[in-house]
Amino acid sequence: MLAISPTDRVFVLTGAGVSAESGIPTFRGVGGLWRNYRIEEVASPHAWRRDPRLVWEFYSMRRRVAGAAKPNSAHLALAKLEQKLQDRLFLCTQNVDDLHEQSGSMRVVHMHGELFKSRCDRCSRPPFHDTNTYDPPAELPRCECGGRIRPHICWFGEVPFESERIFRALDECTIFMAVGTSGVVEPAASFVAHVSDRARTIYVGPEEPANLSAFTECHLGKAGEVLPEFLALQTWKI
Ligand code: NAD
Ligand code: ZN
Repeated sequence: MLAISPTDRVFVLTGAGVSAESGIPTFRGVGGLWRNYRIEEVASPHAWRRDPRLVWEFYSMRRRVAGAAKPNSAHLALAKLEQKLQDRLFLCTQNVDDLHEQSGSMRVVHMHGELFKSRCDRCSRPPFHDTNTYDPPAELPRCECGGRIRPHICWFGEVPFESERIFRALDECTIFMAVGTSGVVEPAASFVAHVSDRARTIYVGPEEPANLSAFTECHLGKAGEVLPEFLALQTWKI
């Protein structure tokens, strides 16, 4: 069980594995295919230029899958941790679903964007809430400026969001925990190395991540089973 002192600052990085028990498939472990889509053919600026219909077909499918999903006990344990630690917890997710928010987390940083937001691919209009699905042969949405409306997602080859805030929080943390992330997608895979000379570093997931050697502790198991006990409220030393 995790003991947290009043001066500790906790950085939690979550990946696709934290939503796996909610029925949202992870990318790896399915042979590089995500429900019959080859990910680089639907999640890159090149794919958007070449075939925006296919991109929207893929994200429409993902909106339907995520829209039907409910948070699991891992999301709930992290929401409870935030209630206790408030701004001493920094919750950074690579996930684009909204299951952390649904479970009650108030300060989620989505470094890879949000599935239920869209933005214009031309003008600086801010990203907006959007739950629509656009399946062919539906007309693809356009902005008033003439640009195309695209998913508010950080695709392969694009720069992740909120890097400045994230690295400030990494510099301040004393406990770093990664949950359900394979340790291969950069820059998130290097966060642990960034803090490992001074923070306690913990991995939680059913398999060892590719960057295991940078962690001081590894708790093998499903996030929904490990986290509620590991973060059990009554045992905290605060
Ligand atoms: P990944 O698909 O590369 O790896 C998933 C990891 O989850 C693996 O290490 C696996 O061992 C672990 N895992 C599987 N079941 C688990 C469980 N029950 N509990 C804990 N861990 C479990 O995912 P990634 O490392 O997050 O990176 C891939 C990219 O995929 C990210 O950029 C992310 O944006 C995107 N993605 C997001 C979602 C989502 O929003 N829910 C879903 C799929 C992929
Ligand atoms: Zn526009």
